Amino acid sequence: LVTVKEIQAWLSDYTEAIEKNKDYLSELDTPIGDGDHGNNMNRGMSEYQKAFEAKQPQTITETFKVLSMALISKVGGASGPLYGSAFMNLTKASKDLTEITSEKQLGDLFETGLSGIQARGKAVAGDKTMVDVWQPVVEQLKHSDLSKNNIEAAKGQTKDMQAKKGRASYLGERSIGHIDPGAASSALLFQSLLPYLN
Ligand code: ADP
Ligand code: MG
Ligand code: MG
Repeated sequence: LVTVKEIQAWLSDYTEAIEKNKDYLSELDTPIGDGDHGNNMNRGMSEYQKAFEAKQPQTITETFKVLSMALISKVGGASGPLYGSAFMNLTKASKDLTEITSEKQLGDLFETGLSGIQARGKAVAGDKTMVDVWQPVVEQLKHSDLSKNNIEAAKGQTKDMQAKKGRASYLGERSIGHIDPGAASSALLFQSLLPYLN
């Protein structure tokens, strides 16, 4: 059973995970981007913590809204509006929701988030973006198959892909051989969620 308490604990853990992995994420963004993904995400999640303390959201939907606004206003890079629209869609989809009682329900919720990312960024599976983690995670949640290994596998698969969207796509074939930074930050997001399932 996931209530507002678990959602908030998850996002607080994610803030910590981003802070701890900030350098790693920026290093992933160096060969195929501009080396700022860790800093971008850390700025966004720090802003979330600040706004969270100031606004003290009491519901799942309000919590997602605080996160979405923080990411849109502070991240700066391409990833900000993309994560921001994911969590804006989660805000809408979780209106009136006080608890999430199944992984299937959580999968449906994240599917609206994935739709937000794709509506904004137009990436499909295989384009070497965060979509390559979000999409399998949605499917795995629906089939009660989300695990540490499956999340890591989805992230790892971006290594052999050629980027078709975002900065990395400017490199063409030279983008092959590197893990996508947005896939890595998304893997951290869902790894942080695992302890709160069941
Ligand atoms: P920027 O590229 O503007 O510096 P970041 O480094 O913060 O932004 O984020 C880069 C990440 O954003 C990529 O690794 C990728 O996962 C994601 N991304 C970029 N463009 C798209 C897109 N069109 N659709 C989905 N994700 C994207
Ligand atoms: Mg970047
Ligand atoms: Mg940038």
